[in-house]
Amino acid sequence: MVSLGHSQSGIRSVWDTLSLGHDLSGIRSVWDAVRKLKIFEKLRQITDDRCGGSQSRVECSRQLRLKNAGGQLQTGKITGFWELHGKYEIIVNCSGIGARALTGDMNVYPVRGQIHKVHAPWLKHFVRVGDGTSYIYPGISSVTLGGTRQKDDWRMSVDPSDSEAIFKACCALEPSLQRARKLFEGVGLRPVRAVLRLEKEKLEGEGSHMYLVHNYGHGGTGVTFHWGTAKEAAQLVQECVTEIRCRPVRPKPKL
Ligand SMILES: Cc1cc2nc3c(=O)[nH]c(=O)nc-3n(C[C@H](O)[C@H](O)[C@H](O)COP(=O)(O)OP(=O)(O)OC[C@H]3O[C@@H](n4cnc5c(N)ncnc54)[C@H](O)[C@@H]3O)c2cc1C
Repeated sequence: MVSLGHSQSGIRSVWDTLSLGHDLSGIRSVWDAVRKLKIFEKLRQITDDRCGGSQSRVECSRQLRLKNAGGQLQTGKITGFWELHGKYEIIVNCSGIGARALTGDMNVYPVRGQIHKVHAPWLKHFVRVGDGTSYIYPGISSVTLGGTRQKDDWRMSVDPSDSEAIFKACCALEPSLQRARKLFEGVGLRPVRAVLRLEKEKLEGEGSHMYLVHNYGHGGTGVTFHWGTAKEAAQLVQECVTEIRCRPVRPKPKL
């Protein structure tokens, strides 16, 4: 089995499958994701140097647990699922917005979000306005200011006009932010889909097949509810394993 996507849903899906004690012996099952172990160092740097964010720590701890449970982490980008054929029999597709290109699913689209991290340890309470367009979220050692919700916007670079608008809106909500030290700005694409895709699929081609478990389309709430979807994905993996085990064995040709 391979889990495609190193982020929330990907790592968690693998971890939950292991935690459920699924027996994968006999299944080609190298646990896999899209980052090498050097990511730990990188995450630690990010955590210590600029974010201090709990999210980085959570990712770090998830990946360590995965490794301790016998999983492997690998870096790589695929352009189609068949590239993994022969190496793995089950693929868990947690590729977020990448699922659009991989599956051709045009129902998943990006909603761009830009954020700003600042050092403002005096802020202890969060502020969120209306539909969440403007927000101030104090974290462990930084405060996140946001944001934007730009539909079908694929730009991954920081937009200075967005930066200005975010800071202005947040200062209007909390004037003390004027004296906050700026740490970091970033952009992410929320993988939005009217309904999250959580299902299995048997991919057939040229006398062969492979199993896919789709787990993508978490939109702007994946950090919150990936726990539940990963558990369901793990159950679907078990169903694939059962199908593989029950497959009739082809008799060997006598000649
Ligand atoms: C600014 C912002 C604020 C947010 N705030 C919140 C919040 O407050 N609460 C909340 O719950 N959620 C929030 N979210 C949403 C949350 O981040 C997403 O829902 C979540 O990241 C989705 O997780 P995922 O693991 O499904 O996908 P992703 O995190 O997008 O991970 C997908 C992974 O798949 C990999 N991948 C894609 N294509 C390929 C390919 N072809 N080959 C190999 N690998 C591939 C990518 O590299 C990536 O690692 C926010 C998002 C943004 C951008």
